[in-house]
Amino acid sequence: MKPRFKMPTPMKITGRTSTLTHAFITSIIPHIEPTEDQIIESLEILGMSLSDIRCAYCWDKPTEWDHLLPLVENKFPTGYISEIHNLVPACGKCNQSKGNKYWKKWILSDAPLSPKSKKVSGIEGIISRLDKYEEWGSVTRINLEELVGQELWNNHWNNREKLFELMAESQILADKIKQIISKNH
Ligand SMILES: [Zn+2]
Repeated sequence: MKPRFKMPTPMKITGRTSTLTHAFITSIIPHIEPTEDQIIESLEILGMSLSDIRCAYCWDKPTEWDHLLPLVENKFPTGYISEIHNLVPACGKCNQSKGNKYWKKWILSDAPLSPKSKKVSGIEGIISRLDKYEEWGSVTRINLEELVGQELWNNHWNNREKLFELMAESQILADKIKQIISKNH
């Protein structure tokens, strides 16, 4: 039975660490705008056109362009960047379900809302088009750490750790304050 009433879930201060990690990565990597010709070429490889753009994973209506190869692995940048060779149109559900997983493994996995779980038809065609896409102009991967140098690199990631520690401390204090308020109001 569906509940008639549902309380909103209170947000935890420590609940957004992966969003923050993402911000620490996307704030330092290049974002390269594609040319019109590149967009048309990319859609051609995926078997689409400007007048008929689909989610590259499930062929549904797309809402965004998703990084084909993940930006994040084990909480650190992979070195892949935001450029057309690493971006494909995607629906929000696929983007969320895929997360930081490698696309082919995810497509064939039993993850909730993966193309296999959704029983998307023509999965083989979808995979072979994405294989071609990955080969197209070979996706740029930068050795960020080497490029930036040890000192700046370490400072950047130490800042994230300091933020995480402050978030954890803040959550403990928030719990304490909440308890006082709940007891006394
Ligand atoms: Zn999709």
